Amino acid sequence: MMADDEKTAAVIRFPQSRVAPHGSDKPTKHLGLGRMAEVIGAPESQATGHWCSRCQGIWYGYLLEVACPACGNRHG
Ligand SMILES: [Zn+2]
Repeated sequence: MMADDEKTAAVIRFPQSRVAPHGSDKPTKHLGLGRMAEVIGAPESQATGHWCSRCQGIWYGYLLEVACPACGNRHG
Protein backbone atom coordinates (compact mmCIF):
# COMPACT_ATOMS: atom_id res chain seq x y z
CA MET A 1 0.00 0.00 0.00
CA MET A 2 3.01 2.28 0.25
CA ALA A 3 3.23 2.31 -3.53
CA ASP A 4 -0.34 3.62 -3.84
CA ASP A 5 0.47 6.53 -1.58
CA GLU A 6 3.48 7.45 -3.67
CA LYS A 7 1.44 7.37 -6.86
CA THR A 8 -1.13 9.74 -5.43
CA ALA A 9 1.57 12.13 -4.30
CA ALA A 10 3.09 12.13 -7.76
CA VAL A 11 -0.19 12.92 -9.52
CA ILE A 12 -1.18 15.83 -7.33
CA ARG A 13 1.05 18.68 -8.39
CA PHE A 14 1.21 22.41 -7.90
CA PRO A 15 -1.98 24.29 -8.80
CA GLN A 16 -0.06 26.16 -11.50
CA SER A 17 0.05 23.03 -13.66
CA ARG A 18 -3.65 23.55 -14.34
CA VAL A 19 -2.97 27.05 -15.66
CA ALA A 20 -0.02 25.97 -17.79
CA PRO A 21 -1.22 22.93 -19.74
CA HIS A 22 1.85 22.81 -21.97
CA GLY A 23 4.06 21.16 -19.40
CA SER A 24 5.92 24.28 -18.39
CA ASP A 25 6.51 24.68 -14.68
CA LYS A 26 7.07 28.39 -15.14
CA PRO A 27 3.96 30.40 -15.97
CA THR A 28 4.61 32.91 -18.74
CA LYS A 29 5.05 36.40 -17.48
CA HIS A 30 2.48 38.81 -18.86
CA LEU A 31 3.95 42.26 -19.35
CA GLY A 32 0.74 44.02 -20.38
CA LEU A 33 -0.31 46.02 -23.38
CA GLY A 34 1.79 48.30 -25.55
CA ARG A 35 1.08 52.01 -25.63
CA MET A 36 -0.83 51.84 -28.93
CA ALA A 37 -3.18 49.19 -27.63
CA GLU A 38 -3.79 51.23 -24.51
CA VAL A 39 -4.54 54.40 -26.48
CA ILE A 40 -6.86 52.70 -28.92
CA GLY A 41 -8.42 50.62 -26.20
CA ALA A 42 -8.74 47.54 -28.37
CA PRO A 43 -9.20 44.13 -26.83
CA GLU A 44 -6.14 42.01 -26.30
CA SER A 45 -7.43 39.45 -28.75
CA GLN A 46 -6.73 41.91 -31.59
CA ALA A 47 -3.19 42.53 -30.47
CA THR A 48 -0.12 40.50 -31.28
CA GLY A 49 1.96 38.82 -28.64
CA HIS A 50 5.61 39.85 -28.53
CA TRP A 51 8.31 38.09 -26.61
CA CYS A 52 10.69 40.21 -24.57
CA SER A 53 13.91 38.38 -23.84
CA ARG A 54 14.91 40.97 -21.27
CA CYS A 55 11.75 40.58 -19.20
CA GLN A 56 11.37 36.91 -20.11
CA GLY A 57 7.71 37.53 -20.76
CA ILE A 58 5.09 38.36 -23.35
CA TRP A 59 3.49 41.73 -24.00
CA TYR A 60 0.72 42.60 -26.43
CA GLY A 61 0.67 45.30 -29.06
CA TYR A 62 -0.03 46.04 -32.70
CA LEU A 63 2.20 45.24 -35.63
CA LEU A 64 4.02 48.57 -35.65
CA GLU A 65 4.86 48.33 -32.02
CA VAL A 66 8.26 46.93 -31.28
CA ALA A 67 9.12 48.23 -27.82
CA CYS A 68 8.33 46.31 -24.68
CA PRO A 69 6.05 48.44 -22.47
CA ALA A 70 7.78 47.17 -19.36
CA CYS A 71 11.44 47.86 -20.18
CA GLY A 72 11.50 49.50 -23.64
CA ASN A 73 13.50 46.67 -25.19
CA ARG A 74 13.16 46.74 -28.99
CA HIS A 75 15.14 43.68 -29.86
CA GLY A 76 12.73 40.92 -28.92
ZN1 LIG B 1 10.76 43.95 -21.57
